[in-house]
Amino acid sequence: MAPSYALLIDIAPADADRADFADTFTVIDPAQPALPVGELSAQRGDGVFESIGLIDGHAQEVTAHLERLAHSAELCDLPAPHLSQWRQAVAQVAAHAGAGEAVIKLVLSRGVEGGQSPTGWVTVAPATDFAASRADGIRVVTLDRGCPLDAPARAPWLLSGAKTLSYAVNMAALREAKRRGADDAIFTTSDGFVLEAPTASLILRRGDTFVTPAPTGGILHGTTQVSLFARLAAQGFAVAYEEVPASTLASADAAWLVSSVRLAAPIIDIDGLSLPLERELTASLNAYLLSGRD
Ligand code: PLP
Repeated sequence: MAPSYALLIDIAPADADRADFADTFTVIDPAQPALPVGELSAQRGDGVFESIGLIDGHAQEVTAHLERLAHSAELCDLPAPHLSQWRQAVAQVAAHAGAGEAVIKLVLSRGVEGGQSPTGWVTVAPATDFAASRADGIRVVTLDRGCPLDAPARAPWLLSGAKTLSYAVNMAALREAKRRGADDAIFTTSDGFVLEAPTASLILRRGDTFVTPAPTGGILHGTTQVSLFARLAAQGFAVAYEEVPASTLASADAAWLVSSVRLAAPIIDIDGLSLPLERELTASLNAYLLSGRD
């Protein structure tokens, strides 16, 4: 949905020695043009971003998102973000969101072609309503991403573990999933392993063990998955990062797509094969994800 409040950030170097960054933020009208046409974010998707869930004005897991922003920037050879500056920008936009669920988006772009500094901005917008997916589940299809599991190690310039602005492929996969009558997709490697969804991580339950594909396989390490694993481990469940063969997907006892704004959406069908919908467990996962998390 359209942002309701937006800030442009005058990017500070990561080692800037200051405590208050308020004067580096410019409030802009989110409905009006704000970026020069030479912006490399617009021309090439050359930048990184984060989407942070906001529940009744509380921004969830801000530190984890800022650390991943810094990691993505490093992978893309972008200047390191000053984390206090971005934290203060998040706090300012969070204060302008109303009650309910919303999403804060942080963007760090390489800036204007030929320019001297990166461009940054932060917005807040009402969240899409995911109530039906959380309660009734989603149908997914597997889609081949066309690279083997070891591609990220051999070709780090693919930027597999970075949350870059180049999501055209991810959006194309979602459209393909819809064409095939599904709600979402799960990417697989060309050698038959499971990766992630175009905008979410995958968690499987096998008995009392919760499993997710290892982030070494060139996927984004999801903050929601990390938060859920910490919670599940504290409750006494086993959690594991594994190389998951796609052929084992449909034999899971249960499965979810998880991400910062959708939270946990149970998967009820993979490539036409049914999976059990665990309503109570899913409700407890989502109750946790909706609680204030830092
Ligand atoms: N994987 C991809 C490709 C994503 O785009 C996202 C979120 O947008 C995730 C995983 C889940 O990440 P998070 O839980 O931090 O939202």
